[in-house]
Amino acid sequence: MSRVLVALGGNALEPAHGAGTWAEATTEMRRTAKSLAAVVAEGHELVLTHGNGPQVGNLLREAELAAREVPMPPMYVAGAESEGEIGFLIAQELSSALRRAGVPRAVVPVISRTEVDRRDPAFRNPSKPVGRFYSAAEARTLVRERGWVLRPDPHRGGWRRVVPSPLPRRWLEGSAVRAALDAGLADRCVFVVAGGGGIPVARNGSGGWTGVDAVIDKDRGAALVGRQLRCDSLVIVTDVPGAAVGFGTPRQRWLGVVSVRELQRYLDAGEFAAGSMRPKVEAVLDFVRAGGRRAVITDVGSLRRGIRGEAGTRVPSPRVRSPRLPTGGASRRR
Ligand code: ADP
Ligand code: MG
Repeated sequence: MSRVLVALGGNALEPAHGAGTWAEATTEMRRTAKSLAAVVAEGHELVLTHGNGPQVGNLLREAELAAREVPMPPMYVAGAESEGEIGFLIAQELSSALRRAGVPRAVVPVISRTEVDRRDPAFRNPSKPVGRFYSAAEARTLVRERGWVLRPDPHRGGWRRVVPSPLPRRWLEGSAVRAALDAGLADRCVFVVAGGGGIPVARNGSGGWTGVDAVIDKDRGAALVGRQLRCDSLVIVTDVPGAAVGFGTPRQRWLGVVSVRELQRYLDAGEFAAGSMRPKVEAVLDFVRAGGRRAVITDVGSLRRGIRGEAGTRVPSPRVRSPRLPTGGASRRR
């Protein structure tokens, strides 16, 4: 049996141009769940992770609007809330889809914490925009009253809060989930883990953990989860069929099977946009270099074929000689 980590992007959770309602998210997830159930029915051990950008944006906005009546929680609490909300959405739709596919499983969302290092250079250079746009006057007030860091957005006008995006070091619940999977629990459960890359936490002086206002890139988080769970495959599901070179230009070409070396070359040449395709390509390279058997970037419609190695941008492990290893055979554990 092969262990597959699927990382769901924003579009597998919500339609691109919708109003952001729960009903829309349910419909979208129902479609995604059908493909995911088919993966389980084919005999794979399935683990899920997911993004949370739009959901966290909404939660922060809600908190801000309600601040006069309900105390505003720290930003990292929105990370926890989003894991609960999205975990529930996935549990609702995926458990039904699994039952219908004849492979009933309990869908188990895990509120996940991810260790970050306070010495990470990202803390000296907050770069990730979160929440809405503010006027210059509002921005000054927010800096004074909340201590936020805000940056002007030259393209769209106005100011935006920026937070650090440090590297995820360790997913704290990872070894327990791995032990559960190694004990054969995948026959009964599908774990949903490290949503939004996990809630960033750092060691405090008393041997515990303190939440940190930062965002972890969900694709980097997925690579970490894939390594910690010793997954055979990592599948990053997004809204395009794969990674392209010359993206958006007349020479655009989608990448199919591509070696680590070739993909690294395109990455170095700046073919993948920062904040969208670049972190996915970095995650894929990171995962296979650490011993993963194969990584794929694809869209929801091609998920099943992507796992079979028939669609998407597919990156085989640099250590595996034959590119035609069976997908369902005994997995190579590291
Ligand atoms: P997700 O929510 O799945 O993380 P993102 O919007 O962050 O989605 O990343 C996917 C987007 O990356 C695509 O919709 C596409 O517009 C963009 N993109 C940037 N560069 C490339 C590229 N070289 N090849 C393919 N897509 C690219
Ligand atoms: Mg993204």
